[in-house]
Amino acid sequence: MKPQSKSNIYQIPCECGATNVGETKVGFHQRMIQHEKLIEQDDDNSKSEMVQHHHQKGWQCMLDTEKAFIIEDEIDRRKRRIKESIYSTVSQSINRRNEIEKLWTPLLYEVEPSIKGIISSRERNFSDKRSVQRQDGDSGTAEEEED
Ligand SMILES: [Zn+2]
Repeated sequence: MKPQSKSNIYQIPCECGATNVGETKVGFHQRMIQHEKLIEQDDDNSKSEMVQHHHQKGWQCMLDTEKAFIIEDEIDRRKRRIKESIYSTVSQSINRRNEIEKLWTPLLYEVEPSIKGIISSRERNFSDKRSVQRQDGDSGTAEEEED
Protein backbone atom coordinates (compact mmCIF):
# COMPACT_ATOMS: atom_id res chain seq x y z
CA MET A 1 0.00 0.00 0.00
CA LYS A 2 1.33 3.40 -0.94
CA PRO A 3 1.13 6.14 1.67
CA GLN A 4 -1.91 8.34 1.39
CA SER A 5 -1.34 11.62 -0.38
CA LYS A 6 -2.48 14.81 1.32
CA SER A 7 -3.76 16.15 -1.97
CA ASN A 8 -7.02 14.71 -3.08
CA ILE A 9 -10.59 15.16 -4.20
CA TYR A 10 -13.23 13.99 -1.75
CA GLN A 11 -16.97 13.66 -1.48
CA ILE A 12 -19.24 14.17 1.53
CA PRO A 13 -22.75 12.73 1.32
CA CYS A 14 -25.75 14.36 2.98
CA GLU A 15 -28.72 12.64 4.58
CA CYS A 16 -31.04 14.37 2.10
CA GLY A 17 -29.29 12.81 -0.88
CA ALA A 18 -27.28 15.92 -1.71
CA THR A 19 -23.53 15.67 -1.90
CA ASN A 20 -20.56 17.98 -1.53
CA VAL A 21 -17.37 17.54 -3.53
CA GLY A 22 -14.16 19.30 -2.61
CA GLU A 23 -10.44 19.25 -3.15
CA THR A 24 -7.69 19.73 -0.59
CA LYS A 25 -3.96 19.69 -0.12
CA VAL A 26 -3.99 19.60 3.68
CA GLY A 27 -5.04 15.97 3.90
CA PHE A 28 -8.47 14.38 3.98
CA HIS A 29 -8.82 14.03 7.77
CA GLN A 30 -7.56 17.55 8.40
CA ARG A 31 -10.07 18.87 5.88
CA MET A 32 -12.93 16.95 7.51
CA ILE A 33 -12.01 18.48 10.88
CA GLN A 34 -12.14 21.95 9.27
CA HIS A 35 -15.59 21.20 7.84
CA GLU A 36 -16.85 19.88 11.17
CA LYS A 37 -15.66 23.02 12.97
CA LEU A 38 -17.47 25.28 10.50
CA ILE A 39 -20.65 23.24 10.83
CA GLU A 40 -20.39 23.45 14.61
CA GLN A 41 -19.77 27.21 14.57
CA ASP A 42 -22.84 27.59 12.36
CA ASP A 43 -22.08 31.19 11.41
CA ASP A 44 -25.03 32.94 9.73
CA ASN A 45 -22.69 34.46 7.18
CA SER A 46 -20.59 31.38 6.77
CA LYS A 47 -18.87 31.00 3.42
CA SER A 48 -18.96 27.24 3.88
CA GLU A 49 -21.21 25.67 1.28
CA MET A 50 -21.99 22.91 3.73
CA VAL A 51 -23.20 25.37 6.38
CA GLN A 52 -25.18 27.26 3.71
CA HIS A 53 -26.76 23.96 2.68
CA HIS A 54 -27.86 23.30 6.27
CA HIS A 55 -29.33 26.79 6.50
CA GLN A 56 -31.22 26.37 3.24
CA LYS A 57 -32.64 23.09 4.44
CA GLY A 58 -33.50 24.51 7.87
CA TRP A 59 -31.16 22.05 9.55
CA GLN A 60 -33.37 19.15 8.51
CA CYS A 61 -30.43 17.18 7.16
CA MET A 62 -26.77 16.69 7.93
CA LEU A 63 -23.76 16.39 5.68
CA ASP A 64 -22.00 13.43 7.19
CA THR A 65 -18.21 13.72 7.33
CA GLU A 66 -18.18 10.23 8.85
CA LYS A 67 -19.38 8.94 5.50
CA ALA A 68 -17.03 11.11 3.49
CA PHE A 69 -14.51 9.43 1.23
CA ILE A 70 -11.60 10.21 -1.06
CA ILE A 71 -12.43 9.86 -4.73
CA GLU A 72 -8.91 10.31 -6.01
CA ASP A 73 -5.45 11.52 -5.03
CA GLU A 74 -4.06 14.27 -7.24
CA ILE A 75 -0.92 16.23 -6.46
CA ASP A 76 -1.12 18.66 -9.37
CA ARG A 77 -3.24 21.63 -8.28
CA ARG A 78 -4.57 22.43 -11.72
CA LYS A 79 -5.57 18.84 -12.43
CA ARG A 80 -7.12 18.63 -8.98
CA ARG A 81 -9.34 21.61 -9.78
CA ILE A 82 -10.37 20.12 -13.11
CA LYS A 83 -11.15 16.76 -11.51
CA GLU A 84 -13.12 18.51 -8.78
CA SER A 85 -15.24 20.12 -11.51
CA ILE A 86 -15.77 16.82 -13.28
CA TYR A 87 -16.68 14.89 -10.14
CA SER A 88 -18.90 17.75 -8.96
CA THR A 89 -20.75 17.76 -12.24
CA VAL A 90 -21.17 13.99 -12.34
CA SER A 91 -22.28 13.85 -8.70
CA GLN A 92 -24.47 16.98 -9.13
CA SER A 93 -22.96 18.31 -5.93
CA ILE A 94 -23.95 21.47 -4.07
CA ASN A 95 -20.52 23.14 -4.14
CA ARG A 96 -19.40 25.88 -6.48
CA ARG A 97 -16.97 24.74 -9.13
CA ASN A 98 -15.20 25.89 -12.21
CA GLU A 99 -17.40 25.56 -15.25
CA ILE A 100 -16.47 22.79 -17.61
CA GLU A 101 -15.98 23.93 -21.20
CA LYS A 102 -19.16 23.46 -23.22
CA LEU A 103 -17.06 21.64 -25.80
CA TRP A 104 -16.38 18.87 -23.30
CA THR A 105 -19.99 18.29 -22.34
CA PRO A 106 -20.70 15.55 -24.93
CA LEU A 107 -17.56 13.68 -23.93
CA LEU A 108 -18.33 14.05 -20.25
CA TYR A 109 -21.81 12.72 -20.89
CA GLU A 110 -20.27 9.70 -22.59
CA VAL A 111 -17.87 8.84 -19.75
CA GLU A 112 -20.29 9.74 -16.99
CA PRO A 113 -21.36 6.13 -16.23
CA SER A 114 -17.77 5.01 -15.74
CA ILE A 115 -16.96 8.02 -13.57
CA LYS A 116 -20.04 7.25 -11.47
CA GLY A 117 -18.75 3.69 -11.21
CA ILE A 118 -15.39 4.93 -9.92
CA ILE A 119 -17.06 7.16 -7.33
CA SER A 120 -19.36 4.46 -5.99
CA SER A 121 -16.57 1.88 -5.80
CA ARG A 122 -14.44 4.37 -3.85
CA GLU A 123 -17.40 4.95 -1.55
CA ARG A 124 -17.83 1.20 -1.00
CA ASN A 125 -14.11 0.73 -0.28
CA PHE A 126 -14.22 3.46 2.33
CA SER A 127 -17.28 2.11 4.09
CA ASP A 128 -15.78 -1.41 4.05
CA LYS A 129 -12.62 -0.08 5.69
CA ARG A 130 -14.65 1.72 8.32
CA SER A 131 -16.69 -1.36 9.24
CA VAL A 132 -13.45 -3.34 9.60
CA GLN A 133 -12.14 -0.64 11.94
CA ARG A 134 -15.35 -0.72 13.95
CA GLN A 135 -15.15 -4.49 14.44
CA ASP A 136 -11.80 -3.75 16.02
CA GLY A 137 -9.77 -6.88 15.67
CA ASP A 138 -12.63 -9.26 15.07
CA SER A 139 -11.23 -11.16 12.12
CA GLY A 140 -14.02 -13.71 11.92
CA THR A 141 -15.43 -14.20 8.46
CA ALA A 142 -18.81 -12.69 7.86
CA GLU A 143 -21.47 -15.33 7.36
CA GLU A 144 -24.00 -13.10 5.78
CA GLU A 145 -23.44 -11.91 2.29
CA GLU A 146 -25.07 -8.94 0.81
CA ASP A 147 -26.51 -9.07 -2.61
ZN1 LIG B 1 -28.85 17.88 2.90
